[in-house]
Amino acid sequence: MTRVWPTLALVILVACSKPGVVVIGGGPAGLAAAIEAANAHHRTDVYEAREELGGSALYGDAVTAVPSAAALDRLDAASQPNAARTRFIQRLQPDVIDWLSAMGQVWRPLPNTAEPDVALLTPQGRGASIVVHLVDAAKAAGVTFHLGEKVTGLERADRAVTVKVGTRRVAAAAVIIATGGFAGNIERVRQRLDLADDIPLLRGATSFADGNGIDLALAVGATERLPSQVLLYAHGVPDPNHDGAAVMFMDGDRAWPIDREGAVFNEMKTPRGDSGLALLARPGSSAWVILDRQTIGDIQLWSVDARGFVKAHHVSQGVGTRGDNAEDLARKLRVAPEAVTAGLTVPPARPDSAHPLARGRLTALPLRLTTAKSLTGLQIDLDGRLLDASGTIIPHLYAAGEAAGFAHPWEAEHIDSTMVSGAILTGRVAGQTAAADLDD
Ligand SMILES: Cc1cc2nc3c(=O)[nH]c(=O)nc-3n(C[C@H](O)[C@H](O)[C@H](O)COP(=O)(O)OP(=O)(O)OC[C@H]3O[C@@H](n4cnc5c(N)ncnc54)[C@H](O)[C@@H]3O)c2cc1C
Repeated sequence: MTRVWPTLALVILVACSKPGVVVIGGGPAGLAAAIEAANAHHRTDVYEAREELGGSALYGDAVTAVPSAAALDRLDAASQPNAARTRFIQRLQPDVIDWLSAMGQVWRPLPNTAEPDVALLTPQGRGASIVVHLVDAAKAAGVTFHLGEKVTGLERADRAVTVKVGTRRVAAAAVIIATGGFAGNIERVRQRLDLADDIPLLRGATSFADGNGIDLALAVGATERLPSQVLLYAHGVPDPNHDGAAVMFMDGDRAWPIDREGAVFNEMKTPRGDSGLALLARPGSSAWVILDRQTIGDIQLWSVDARGFVKAHHVSQGVGTRGDNAEDLARKLRVAPEAVTAGLTVPPARPDSAHPLARGRLTALPLRLTTAKSLTGLQIDLDGRLLDASGTIIPHLYAAGEAAGFAHPWEAEHIDSTMVSGAILTGRVAGQTAAADLDD
C-alpha cells in the first residue's frame, strides 16, 4: 500500500501538468468556451488581462435579438443564404437563451415594432447578470482563472502552442482566442476605415477592446476577415471626464440635432444609433444636438466608461455651448438662427415621444462620429478553428466572440447590434471543438 501512494501522486502530477486548454480573455466568449472545455474534462485556464471577468458584457444591457425562422427566410431572400447565419439563428434559442436560462438567467421580452419576426429579450440584471451566471458555471466546471494576466505572445510548435504571459511561458494543447473586438482602438479604426486625421472620432467601446488578440493570432499565421467592417454611431458627445471617450445621446426626440450646415439631422431621430456613416457624409462630419433649458435638466446620457448614465447638464458644463436664445446660440455656432429652431418643425420619430418645445436658454452639445463595434475579425471555420490565408486549419488554435468577427455569420451584414449572444454561441462552439480535437 505504501508503494502505491508515490505512484499515484506521480500520475496526478503528470495529469495536472499536461498542457490543457488556454482561453485568452474572460469576456462572455472566453467564459462560454472555458465552460465547455472544462466540462469535457480538460484542464482549462482562462487568462484575463483585467482584474475582473466579464469583458464588455459588464458595460451594457445585453439586449439580445432572437430571429425567428421567418426572419431567417426573410434574410435569406434578401441576401445569399449562408451556413453560419442559419446556424446562428437556429441555435440561438437552445444554445444561448436556454443554456443561460438553465443557469438561472431570467429574461424580459421587449417590443420590436421594426422587425416583428425578431424577438428582443433583455436579461434581468443586464449584461452583468449573464457574467455572474457564466463565472459560476465556469467555477463549477473547474476552470482556473488568472486575473490581471495579459497574454503578450503566441508561438506554434508541432504538438502545442506556447503562450507568453509576462515573463512566463505556458504550454497549451489548445488555445482559444476570445480577446474581443477592436472598436476601442481609435487609431486602428481610423486606419481600417481610411479616415482622415481631421475627422473627429470618439471611442464608444471599451478601451480594452483594442484588437491586441487579433494581432497575436495574425503573428502566428491567422487571417483577418473584412477588417474595415466597423459599426459607427452618430450620437456620441465628447465625455468631459474621459479623454477621447463618448457619452451617448440616446433620445433623439427630446432635443433636435442639426448639422454644421444648419440642416436638421434626421438620422439621429431614429431609435437605432448606428447612423454613423450618415454623420460622416456631412460636411465637416460634425453636428450638434440642441437642448432647451428643461431638457438639459431632465435627461441623461450614456457613458461607456462610467458604465451608466450621466446627467446632461454635467456633460454640458464640459463640452456644451450655451446661448440665451436661438439667435445667440446660432451666432456662437456660426449657423443661421433658423437652423437652431428648424428641428422644432420636424415631427417626432416615435409615436410615444413628446415633441421638444424650446423653453428658456438653449444648449448645443457636439455630436461626433463614434466607434461602436468591430463587426468582423479573425477568420474561423464554423467550428471555431482558426484558418490561415489559404483557408487551411491552423492546428491547436481557435477563436470566438468579437475577436473572431461576430458579424461573420451575417457576412458582415449585422442583423442587429447584438453581440453577447454571438459571443456565447461562438465561445461554446470553440470550446466544444477544442475539447473534441484534444480527445481525438
Ligand atoms: C456600452 C456597451 C453596450 C453594449 N450593449 C450590448 C447589448 O445591449 N447587447 C449585446 O448583445 N451586446 C452589447 N454590447 C456588446 C457586447 O458586450 C460584446 O459584443 C461582447 O461582450 C463581446 O464578447 P467577447 O467575449 O468577444 O469580448 P469582450 O467582452 O470584449 O471580452 C474580451 C476580454 O478579453 C480580455 N483580453 C483582451 N486581450 C487580452 C489579452 N491579450 N490577454 C488576456 N485577456 C485579454 C479583455 O480584457 C476582455 O475582458 C455592448 C458593449 C458595450 C461596450
